[in-house]
Amino acid sequence: MIQKPKGTYDLLPSETQKYRALENHLFKLLENYGYGEIRTPIFEHSNVFHRDSEFSDMVLKETYNFKDKGNRDLTLRPEGTAGVIRSYVEEKLYAKEEITKLYYLGPNFRYERPQKGRYRQFYQFGIEAVGAKSPSLDAEVVNLSYKIITSLGLKQVKIKINTLGDIESRKKYNDTLITYFTPFKEQLCDNCQQRLNNNPMRILDCKIDNKKDFVKKAPKPKDYLTPEAAKYFSDVLRYLNAMDVIYEVDDSLVRGLDYYGHTVFEVEASIKGFGAHNILGGGGHYEKLISEFGGPNLSGVGVAFGMERLMQAIEAEKIQLPAEKQFDFYLLYFDEKTKIAALKILSELRDLGYKGDINHLDKKFSNQLKRALRFNPKYLIIIGEEELNNNTYTVKDVKTEEQVTIDYEQLLKKLGNK
Ligand code: AMP
Repeated sequence: MIQKPKGTYDLLPSETQKYRALENHLFKLLENYGYGEIRTPIFEHSNVFHRDSEFSDMVLKETYNFKDKGNRDLTLRPEGTAGVIRSYVEEKLYAKEEITKLYYLGPNFRYERPQKGRYRQFYQFGIEAVGAKSPSLDAEVVNLSYKIITSLGLKQVKIKINTLGDIESRKKYNDTLITYFTPFKEQLCDNCQQRLNNNPMRILDCKIDNKKDFVKKAPKPKDYLTPEAAKYFSDVLRYLNAMDVIYEVDDSLVRGLDYYGHTVFEVEASIKGFGAHNILGGGGHYEKLISEFGGPNLSGVGVAFGMERLMQAIEAEKIQLPAEKQFDFYLLYFDEKTKIAALKILSELRDLGYKGDINHLDKKFSNQLKRALRFNPKYLIIIGEEELNNNTYTVKDVKTEEQVTIDYEQLLKKLGNK
């Protein structure tokens, strides 16, 4: 038997139905905010992700890289933002609108150690508001993230927010961290020893080192903000307050990717038994990314949610997503002649938008009936010799067990409006 690759999963119809309900919910919310869907390739030229400025583990160690037959270096996307910004610049979207509002949904690939809530292929739903540096735009994306969790009814999920400041603040802060961590170098994990010089902020985010006391006591970004960066952050918070968004300022929050500046935030679940991977989504403001792709010197702000973790939270909080539509009817027949009549009405009713089916395997009536009931149809439509001769249908309401023999017009009335 051939098995699926490690870290991947199959979604069967009962699961896809729940994901579809979640996706529809998210799409509707985003469209209301004036965001449009973008679809970018699942693989990109490797340098879309492997950029000189990017030192995250995700990019350096976890990407699936390959060469195609033309000897091009390609990478399966590990995250959504870089591809969206590549497209934003390539399609010159900045020339069309001052602020471009996009959302995306699709699979990403990371070669990580699979665990509950962590896969090698996983789906992300993300938002990017690109083209402007504005505290109220940052606040809008945080607000949207808040609406995603509250509109789904998630209660044990909160937004944590922080600022990394502008380039000047981050330079001052990074230098301070290098000075602070250098005496502890031997106590850092191998990865963090390397991070010490090129991106010391990542040490604070390291899953191994961030438990160590000297890391917890490290200086915080807030003490190194320029007055402009401090004002930017207080404006973001003021706008969030105006929109009644509930959040928690976490001054030790820094985000995994290297392109963030100013606002960063995470959506964290604190549901009992949820497991170690409790960050449902994360995002922030980026300043250099657009120019790195050869575009103008513009900013953007975005967030990405892991769909599997969002679904895990929905299930852990026992939230009911809209259920799949019930079968309107199931057709039953007796022989070849009645089967032909049944297929005809099946096709007509489906054309009219009713959901129904038939058993194709010419089983005995009692067998057809038994299997039909597994689909939980509202009505059974039975076509026998007599119905065939009289152009009628015997319709049984499965719940009330009430049975009538009626003509086509009456049948449509019974099935209700579509
Ligand atoms: P990131 O791009 O690392 O900031 O991740 C954003 C969100 O994507 C996380 O909060 C998770 O919900 C989800 N995510 C990231 N990596 C994985 C993974 N390997 N498996 C499942 N979900 C993931």
